[in-house]
Amino acid sequence: MPTREDLKYYQSLPLELKVYKTIDNIREFVREYGVDECYVSFSGGKDSTVLLDIARKMYPNIEAVFVNTGLEYPEIQKFVKTFDNVRIVYPKKTFRQVISEWGYPIIGKETAHNLFYAQKGKKWALDMVNGESKQASGEFSRFNIEKYKSLLNVDFRVSDACCRVMKKSPAHSIKKMPIIATMAEESNLRLQQWLAKGCNSFDGNIASKPMSFWTQQDVLRYIKINNLPIASVYGDIVEKDGQTSLFDTELCTTGCSRTGCIYCGFGAHLEKGEGRFQRLKRTHPRLWEYCIEGGEYDTDGLWKPNDKGLGLRHVFDVLNGIYGDDFIRYE
Ligand code: SF4
Repeated sequence: MPTREDLKYYQSLPLELKVYKTIDNIREFVREYGVDECYVSFSGGKDSTVLLDIARKMYPNIEAVFVNTGLEYPEIQKFVKTFDNVRIVYPKKTFRQVISEWGYPIIGKETAHNLFYAQKGKKWALDMVNGESKQASGEFSRFNIEKYKSLLNVDFRVSDACCRVMKKSPAHSIKKMPIIATMAEESNLRLQQWLAKGCNSFDGNIASKPMSFWTQQDVLRYIKINNLPIASVYGDIVEKDGQTSLFDTELCTTGCSRTGCIYCGFGAHLEKGEGRFQRLKRTHPRLWEYCIEGGEYDTDGLWKPNDKGLGLRHVFDVLNGIYGDDFIRYE
């Protein structure tokens, strides 16, 4: 089993060695299943753009798959179309339908998962939320019971179902083995998955995550060194003002630092500086309006999206009322 020390060691390697190790991981995975039975999961974001570049230098005809959730920046959708051999798949429901049926994706996956079941009255989840069972297991072990207890009584549902419906189900319909550009540094869940399986998993959830030990700086550096085109929504990759790390110059993007789903609330409360919804207002005001405005109560008194918009203003105002005005900044 790999350890946290192993991860730290791999993360400290120079980029060139990381690329070699990534190539080894991809080769091992493709050797097991055959290139025609594998695909690169391509979101149009910078991480998967790097992965696709590495994989196609090895296997020029390997298929890429883009799950078009309708939640990506328009620039990302346009960028994806500049690549050959990309299969586009769609979820069966829209984001609005998903949050109407299950709830809003806010805080983080683990918290939203537990809150969803606690709001539904499931005993194990209520025990956990009320602190009577602090024994959470596996991937949900970092649920912050005390902090998010207040969300049990809000007038909207919270849920982690969105990723499953919008991304995982369409991806499962491919019936091939995925090669994915996720990294252990991105979340506790991804770290735990790497500690349990390493980069290539050949049983259970079969997948290759050959860049698990990369960092965001590695991705930016790879793009810069290889002059790799990325979606215009990122802007340019530049050196951070006068800042240097011990080993190299720190890089950043002049536009968005992350793309992903534009209306997603997961992790929005952790952002420093300009928040994703503030940036959306500045760069894509009409999308911001749809996301923030609208919403109405249903017959059970639960807040849900409506024709006018997703109604996130109300959701964020409730959260800011509990955790402080700056918890999620959206104006
Ligand atoms: S990242 Fe957020 S918005 Fe996108 S599918 Fe997952 S939960 Fe939904």
